[in-house]
Amino acid sequence: MKLILLGAPGAGKGTVAKLLTTIDGSVQISTGDILRGAVQTGSELGKEAEAYMKRGDLVPDSLIMGIMEKRLQESDCQKGFLLDGFPRTIPQAEALKELLAKLDITLDMAVNIDVPKDVILDRLCTRRTCENTECQAIYNVKSSPTKQEGICDKCGSAVIQRDDETEEAISHRLQTYNDKTAPLIGFYEKEGLLKTVSGTSSDTVVQELKAPLGF
Ligand code: AMP
Repeated sequence: MKLILLGAPGAGKGTVAKLLTTIDGSVQISTGDILRGAVQTGSELGKEAEAYMKRGDLVPDSLIMGIMEKRLQESDCQKGFLLDGFPRTIPQAEALKELLAKLDITLDMAVNIDVPKDVILDRLCTRRTCENTECQAIYNVKSSPTKQEGICDKCGSAVIQRDDETEEAISHRLQTYNDKTAPLIGFYEKEGLLKTVSGTSSDTVVQELKAPLGF
C-alpha cells in the first residue's frame, strides 16, 4: 500500500503506520524519526535540523525534500510505504506530487486521522519514546506503559520524553500544524485521495482502512 498519513502531532500516525506495516510489508517512513536519528548521530542534516525541531518549528522544505527524494527510491519502498509526518506543508505536497509522477508511483490514499484536541494534548504530555534511533518505539505512561519503568520492552534502551514534548513546544507544534499542515486536508480532498477516519483508537483506524485498501 502507498499511503500518506495526515493528522496532528499525537494523532497516532506512527502507531497506525507500525500496525499497517505488519499487513503487507510496506515500510513506515517517518521524517521525524529520520531527523531525530540525524540529530543523535550529529550528521550535517542533524546539525541543520536540530534548532528548528527543539522549538517545534518545521524544518525547511528543501531539507525534507532532499531526504524524501532519496528515501523513496530505496528498494524497500517497492512493496509500499506509509508516509508518517510528511508532507507537512503545501509546497512539500506539491513537490511530492511531482516526485511521485517522476518515479511513476501512484498513491492509494491520504488518510486523515482525526482526533479531538483534548485527547491530543493528553497523549502528547504522557507520550514516551525509545531513545534508540533504530527503534523509536512509542509508549504512553497512562495507556501503554513499558513493562519495566523507563526501559524499552523491545530493545532495552532508555525510554524518554522527547525534547519537543515540553508543554511550550507542544503548543507551538499544534499551532504550526493548524497553520501549515491542516491545509493539506483540502489539498488531498481536491486530489480525490482523502479519507478521514476517527483516530481515538489506532486499532479501529487500521480496521477501517483494511477494506478500502483491499485487505
Ligand atoms: P514528528 O516526529 O513527525 O512529530 O516530527 C518532529 C519534528 O521534526 C517536527 O516538529 C519538525 O520539526 C520536524 N519534521 C518532521 N517531519 C517534517 C516535515 N515533513 N517537514 C518539516 N519538518 C518536519
